[in-house]
Amino acid sequence: MMVLFSQTSQQGMQALLGKCRIFWPVLRCQQLFAVYFNIPNTEKVSYFSFRTSSSTALPVDSKGTDVFPTKKRSEIEYEGETGWDEESKKISEGKLFSSSGAPKKLLVSQVLSRHKFAKVQPPEKPLQAEEWNRLRENFKSPEIFEDVMLNSMVRCNSPIDVAKSLLTSVAKSDGDIGYNLLIKYLALCVQQRKTAEICDVYDIMKMRFKILESGAYNLLIRGLSNSDQWRMALTLLEEVKKVTTPSRTNYESCIKAASRHREMNLACELYHEMLAKDLVPTLDVLQAFFDFSRGMKDAELKKELFGILLYLRENQIYPHRTFMRSIKLWFESIPGENWRGHLTNIKDSGQCPVCNHQLEDSDLTEEEYNNLRERIITDVIHGSDTFRKTSPQEFEAFQTFVEDRLPFDIVIDGLNVSHIRPRKMQCENLFYAVNCLAKENVRLLVLGRKHMLINSSNWKQEIMKEIQNKADFFFAENISEDDAFLLYATLRSGKHCKFVTRDFLRDHKACLSDSLTRHLFRKWQRGHQIVFSPSAEGKHINFLPAFNYDCVVQTTGNTWHIPYKDTFEERYSYQVPRKWLCLQLK
Ligand SMILES: [Zn+2]
Repeated sequence: MMVLFSQTSQQGMQALLGKCRIFWPVLRCQQLFAVYFNIPNTEKVSYFSFRTSSSTALPVDSKGTDVFPTKKRSEIEYEGETGWDEESKKISEGKLFSSSGAPKKLLVSQVLSRHKFAKVQPPEKPLQAEEWNRLRENFKSPEIFEDVMLNSMVRCNSPIDVAKSLLTSVAKSDGDIGYNLLIKYLALCVQQRKTAEICDVYDIMKMRFKILESGAYNLLIRGLSNSDQWRMALTLLEEVKKVTTPSRTNYESCIKAASRHREMNLACELYHEMLAKDLVPTLDVLQAFFDFSRGMKDAELKKELFGILLYLRENQIYPHRTFMRSIKLWFESIPGENWRGHLTNIKDSGQCPVCNHQLEDSDLTEEEYNNLRERIITDVIHGSDTFRKTSPQEFEAFQTFVEDRLPFDIVIDGLNVSHIRPRKMQCENLFYAVNCLAKENVRLLVLGRKHMLINSSNWKQEIMKEIQNKADFFFAENISEDDAFLLYATLRSGKHCKFVTRDFLRDHKACLSDSLTRHLFRKWQRGHQIVFSPSAEGKHINFLPAFNYDCVVQTTGNTWHIPYKDTFEERYSYQVPRKWLCLQLK
């Protein structure tokens, strides 16, 4: 069995560093680098010289872009922990250097992408250099053999020793191990949580390259934060900060590491730093705070966790079941306080059946409503982006149409509703929806499209005539944008008017310039959007009425009510959950 670097890390590192201290001046001058190879099966210790291919530092991305794109807080979308898979996939596909300006690296990835399907099966056991050479000679593109082989090892999660034996053969023949091979080896070590190896690779990289690029930092921080060497990850985070903005994943790895070791002050400090850099935390890291603060008596920390709950409120974020359980357990564990948590369904009246508390009303005050209406009409409807898809003439005609018929009780996005059950004719879906909603003798406005007035397999004109007896219709040009029409008609009709669409209206939320208006808009949306979905067997359409109470995290000091989701799905944030966690201080 061959090992690259030494296996007993402490001893090995000292030997390595000792050697480097001796050879460091030589290395600086002659670009030579020395590494010990410990080959236990022959009881022989040999040492090779590595020639660095370049003494220049790797290009640093000056734009601060990162392997993981960071998201603005205004477009919050949460996903699970997918970062690692992406990273590992990028490495195995050789994409990690896509932003690198180094021609040599680009060449490797270009060649690799050309040979995207050149797959090899890694051996199960370490090979001797001669055996690797034979495999290389038989490979159709020997110049990229090691890249393809290491990619494959990352994908197959091959034993570290096998990868080491390959790098050893490379060092023997080339006298050098390139950066791209080192980082793939590093990826494999991180994947298998081989802390000692990760530290070794880091030391080698540090000595050979003045600056590492973000892909290497991501791997190192992730790898070290999961180990007993987690404080080294913090040091690396500081290094990253010197050249660019660390990624969300960088921060979260460090926050989780600090939390795991009950260093909550440090975790909070990093969390605030990350928020200040406009990085949106994942639910995962927020949950870690609750998981690892359990049973701690610390007034400041309690304030921080309450702050996280208010962050959920502000951003209309609903924790999933696992996160909710962490919140519950944390409350119940606060020393000296007697919090009790219960899972419940809030009554339609908005009363909590557990503690009888009446939840916040979803109604806006007159003043709030008027402000919101003015802002939406000026910012969104008369803002420049509406007319990109709607002509000013058409919108004017619509305004006249609405003003002549005000007020409506429900405004329906007709096209949207017509697609709800794919096996039904579109006009049938619309007919069904209008019939359901018209039952209470309400005034309906359907926003339609001109193509609905042409007889076709989806739009039977006899059915269309019948629907038009039950609701007012406005038929817009086929390319028009519905949202502006929908918002205008609903808001002009008054506070009682509701709207039906599956659309999220996210774009408009983003258009609203200040956070207070955005907050009011969300609250209005929660209280006025009628959500619909096909029934399980697809025969019916279920309409969930808008709530009278506000579906958002709320507190009175002695109680907390937290709406939660049963699943991780976050596709439509207006699909407000029906389940709640009620927490009371007894
Ligand atoms: Zn309650």
